[in-house]
Amino acid sequence: MMQTATRFVNPTAEAKAILARYWNGRIPVDVESIAQQMGVKIETLNPFAAGGISGEIEFLEDQPVIRVNAADPQTRRRFTIAHELGHLALGHLADEKQFRDPSKNYTLGNYNPKERDANYFAAALLMPDDAVRAYAAGMENPTATTLANAFGVSKAAMGIKLKMLGIIPQWATV
Ligand SMILES: [Zn+2]
Repeated sequence: MMQTATRFVNPTAEAKAILARYWNGRIPVDVESIAQQMGVKIETLNPFAAGGISGEIEFLEDQPVIRVNAADPQTRRRFTIAHELGHLALGHLADEKQFRDPSKNYTLGNYNPKERDANYFAAALLMPDDAVRAYAAGMENPTATTLANAFGVSKAAMGIKLKMLGIIPQWATV
């Protein structure tokens, strides 16, 4: 039986470490620039050949390559890149050759541990807590819509973040 090295990494802490190293501090977080600085090549996935896949990551030779479905809206493409970077940063590619993600993999209802961790990583990368708090503090009435636009994420993703940070109440509709 083959032994695989399992790394126990906190996805949020890993995203913070990557932000500290590669992020220029501006929002929306330039996820493509971070990927490039991590040595990742980003390619377009032909939507007609994608077969319902939003994104994928694999090593070609020693080069990590992320492919993103060109037909997805921009906020989804940004989340896809961040999610696939999560598979790389969290060491998932040590165990598996490739990840191919249909859009359902990007929901919090996904209980596959690697997919779930990649989603936590992506959320932490695109919506750094301190930046969200600072931005919201400068607004009279912070809403998920305004902050989602500023951070280049979906309203649903920002709604979850704002509730987590206590900026909007748990019961609020976003
Ligand atoms: Zn995935």
